[in-house]
Amino acid sequence: MVWSAARNQHEHSDQPLPGYKLAYPMLSADGTSTGFSGVTLGRAHIYRAIDDAICVHGSRHACPSRWCDCGFYCFHDIAAARDLACEPEYRGAVLLEVAVSGRYRRYERGLRYARQRVRAVRIGRCDCGRHGEVLADSGSGSIGWRRLLPVCPSCAGNRPVIEPDAFGRLAGGDITVTTDGPPSGPVAPLSAKPDAAGAVAVLSAEVALLQARLDEVQARLDELTRPKE
Ligand SMILES: [Zn+2]
Ligand SMILES: [Zn+2]
Repeated sequence: MVWSAARNQHEHSDQPLPGYKLAYPMLSADGTSTGFSGVTLGRAHIYRAIDDAICVHGSRHACPSRWCDCGFYCFHDIAAARDLACEPEYRGAVLLEVAVSGRYRRYERGLRYARQRVRAVRIGRCDCGRHGEVLADSGSGSIGWRRLLPVCPSCAGNRPVIEPDAFGRLAGGDITVTTDGPPSGPVAPLSAKPDAAGAVAVLSAEVALLQARLDEVQARLDELTRPKE
């Protein structure tokens, strides 16, 4: 990656700066803690809710270094993170809202930095297109950690799952975990339509059933009342 001279200026912030990024949700092998792994660089490294970057290439320099691409990364804009989440290989990732502090460097779309606190986790969609509501074992992972995957209740089936609140508690920070998914553009209305249509269909069927029963009751009443007149 080529850095312009202006962007190579190393900066420092004592005030937390907001950022957005994608990460894979992870569960420790013993099930007692959760964390995150990067979606591009340093996938094998798991970080916690509050953590310091380490050089994923094994160097001992402080992150972020001018001569290395290591460090945490985030976007300035939540839309950029949502755009990235549309790539097929990132479909299982969750969206993180982070607070950046310490040393940082700017790049085209965001920051590369030393210290990070995860403030919020947004669980995206299930593979089937419905909103992910829980996290299930994805079947992949790295040593000591299982990678989790957002799934909807029907795709979860009988698999063991982790509720969003439990994931937040085990992450060891003050994290809000929501399941609203990426509510960008036409995606939300598209998914809402079949749900609404389904609800109307069920209601219509119930109304038809009630109407049929009322007709039956009315017919019986007619039968019972007719001889007395
Ligand atoms: Zn490095
Ligand atoms: Zn599903």
